[in-house]
Amino acid sequence: MSRIQAPPDEAQGNLTDRLLAGLPAEAVLIDPDVTASYANDMASFCPSGAPAVVVLPRTVEQVQHVMRTATELRVPVVPQGARTGLSGAANASEGCIVLSLTKMDRILEINPVDRIAVVEPGVINAALSRAVNEHGLYYPPDPSSWEMCTIGGNIGTASGGLCCVKYGVTAEYVLGLDVVLADGRLMSTGRRTAKGVAGYDMTRLFVGSEGSLGIVVRAVLALKPQPPQQLVLAAEFASAAAACDAVCRIMKTEGRGALPQKGGGGRRAGGHVPSLLELMDRTTVKAVNDLAHMGLPETTEALLLVAFDTPDPAADLAAVGALCEAAGATQVVPADDAAESEMLLQGRRLSLTALEAVKGTTMIDDVCVPRSRLGEMLDGIEQIAGKYQLTIGVCAHAGDGNTHPTVCFDAGDADESRRARESFDEIMALGLRLGGTITGEHGVGVLKKEWLAREIGPVGVEMQRAVKQVFDPLGILNPGKLF
Ligand SMILES: Cc1cc2nc3c(=O)[nH]c(=O)nc-3n(C[C@H](O)[C@H](O)[C@H](O)COP(=O)(O)OP(=O)(O)OC[C@H]3O[C@@H](n4cnc5c(N)ncnc54)[C@H](O)[C@@H]3O)c2cc1C
Repeated sequence: MSRIQAPPDEAQGNLTDRLLAGLPAEAVLIDPDVTASYANDMASFCPSGAPAVVVLPRTVEQVQHVMRTATELRVPVVPQGARTGLSGAANASEGCIVLSLTKMDRILEINPVDRIAVVEPGVINAALSRAVNEHGLYYPPDPSSWEMCTIGGNIGTASGGLCCVKYGVTAEYVLGLDVVLADGRLMSTGRRTAKGVAGYDMTRLFVGSEGSLGIVVRAVLALKPQPPQQLVLAAEFASAAAACDAVCRIMKTEGRGALPQKGGGGRRAGGHVPSLLELMDRTTVKAVNDLAHMGLPETTEALLLVAFDTPDPAADLAAVGALCEAAGATQVVPADDAAESEMLLQGRRLSLTALEAVKGTTMIDDVCVPRSRLGEMLDGIEQIAGKYQLTIGVCAHAGDGNTHPTVCFDAGDADESRRARESFDEIMALGLRLGGTITGEHGVGVLKKEWLAREIGPVGVEMQRAVKQVFDPLGILNPGKLF
């Protein structure tokens, strides 16, 4: 990470005074004990610096004032949501202004005819979800951190979640944005209409840009009609390979002529469209049981959770259950009702937190491979865990091929920490070899900077740097991230 020198004391005073000219006193935090608590997101191994000041604006004008001040004084700015990020993308740089958007947390509009919501960036994902449900609407992107993370952070990292296998990721739901640029100007991108192709897709450019191009201060989000309550099925497998085979069978489409005359043995022309298709390996299942005493089956090597939110989920689960059995499932247990379904999902959502409790620290990989290569990915991860003598638990958005191999280690043990970092890198190399990407949804941040260059190549990096230069010629927006 590039280290930016802390400003001298008189410059610090000047910075605070200038910020206070456009912000109320309670929105400008300078107590070092308090500002230090804004230094990191939730990623391990990512360097961070001490912020000079933390600002908590409540209006667009206040954000503009912060950016104008930063431009005039050449001070770096690090935008932050809830700091649940897993790549160091929200980590402070030395002497920066931390621009926390958490106080801009109003839902400005929910429109059931246009099927959109207009929100400020600090709205918590789950709060939006519940609010739109009241109108019979649904905001699908649902990271497991949904009770904590913000829409601004979701846009910054292009978040995914459990239901993305059917409904897609954050990028598919952001229709338009208001963005405060590095020099304080306000730019609107996109639209609130169902369609629109006027000019370059600047909205999409900002999704996943990790706070490096501008500050999102308002977002127009697409909504779906609320689907029926989903029902979940749990399938146990004696090997990860068999579970991955089941994933392929579930997702594979068939031409109508290819199906046998009666029933199709769980197969369906056009393939199945589960509303989630998740995997937890034995390490993860045990970690969740140890943390939350959920009674998940620990003898199984891999547990698949499949759900449908169709008009007849029980019929779809029965068909998919047959496919799991054909792939070698040792047990297939459909949930009785919505409450039992939610309990199973709760176990999945706890996976990363539970794995952290195994040895105190984790490094969470986010490699996404074509789902047809998922079995090879899991096999390779097992070999890497053996090679480095480490516990690596795997939970995965299996239907998307998006794995979270989570390296559990003791940060106080230098040798184990070194092995953890090396295995983390080797997992990314494996993902690239299998035609995948180093990050499906957590972003690059600081943690995977050198790997971004490996994935997109020198020309790709050059073009991305050129885009950054247009939006941020002084390099003050979240410096040291991505490249
Ligand atoms: C237990 C746990 C489970 C998780 N599960 C998932 C999961 O299932 N799927 C998933 O995708 N992620 C998951 N995450 C990662 C994380 O929650 C997401 O990346 C989330 O989108 C981050 O939101 P945040 O509000 O915490 O943003 P932060 O971490 O604060 O910021 C993330 C990035 O966005 C930028 N940013 C924030 N707000 C703005 C803004 N207004 N304008 C411009 N840039 C901004 C920041 O600079 C940073 O680069 C999980 C994390 C945890 C701890």
